[in-house]
Amino acid sequence: MPQELLIAVIAVLLWSGVLMAIMQYAAVVKMPEKRIREPRPNKITLKTKIINVTGNMGVALVLIFGVLLIAGEHLVSTVAVPWYQVIFEAFAGLLVYDFMYYFFHRGMHHPKVMRKVHGVHHYIRHPTAFESIYIHPLEGIGGVSLMLLGMFIVGPVSIASFVLALFIYNSCNILVHANITWDSKLMVLPNYWAKRHDIHHGVHLNRNYASIFPFWDKMFGTYS
Ligand SMILES: [Zn+2]
Ligand SMILES: [Zn+2]
Repeated sequence: MPQELLIAVIAVLLWSGVLMAIMQYAAVVKMPEKRIREPRPNKITLKTKIINVTGNMGVALVLIFGVLLIAGEHLVSTVAVPWYQVIFEAFAGLLVYDFMYYFFHRGMHHPKVMRKVHGVHHYIRHPTAFESIYIHPLEGIGGVSLMLLGMFIVGPVSIASFVLALFIYNSCNILVHANITWDSKLMVLPNYWAKRHDIHHGVHLNRNYASIFPFWDKMFGTYS
C-alpha cells in the first residue's frame, strides 16, 4: 500500500474520532437544547455501548486495511489527477455506494433481519454521534464493504479521491446521528442530514434509507 494512502486513511480515521467526540459533547453537554427530539433513556448500559462501538471500529479498520492491502490496486491508483477529477471520482463512488446502501438498508428492515441484525441499531430511538456505529457487526461489515465496492466499481480512483470519499462517508455517518441542529449557516448540510435520519429513527422507520444523497429515497418513494 502506498505510504501516502496509509497516512491519509489514518488521518481520516483520527478525524472521525475527533468529529464523533465533538458532536457527542455538543449533543449531551454543551447544547442539549438543540437536540432534534427530547431524548429518552434506553436500557443499554454505557459499557455495552463501548464494547459494541470499539468492536465495530476494529472490524472496520481490519476490513478497510485488509482490502487495501490485498486488492488495493483495483480500488486506488497512484496516478495523480486534477482536483475536479478527484471530486468527480469521490462523488461517483459515493453515489454508487449510496444506491447499493439504499437497498441494503431497506432489506435490513425486513422483519426477520430487523429482529436479528438491524434492530440493534434501531433499539436506540434517540441516537447521538457515538451511536452512529452502535450496530450489529454484520451491518458494519455490510456498510463498509458497500463503500469499498462503490469505489471499486468506479475505480481505480486516485488516492486523493479515495481519501475524500472515505472522509465524506465517515463524516456523514457521524453527522446524520448527531441529533442536533446548529444555528450557523455553514451547518446547513449537517442539519439537513441530522433531521433526515432522525425521522428514520423516530417517526417513520420506513423512510430515508439512503445515508448521503436524498435522490434514491425520492426515486423510490421513501423520502420524508
Ligand atoms: Zn434503519
Ligand atoms: Zn441510524
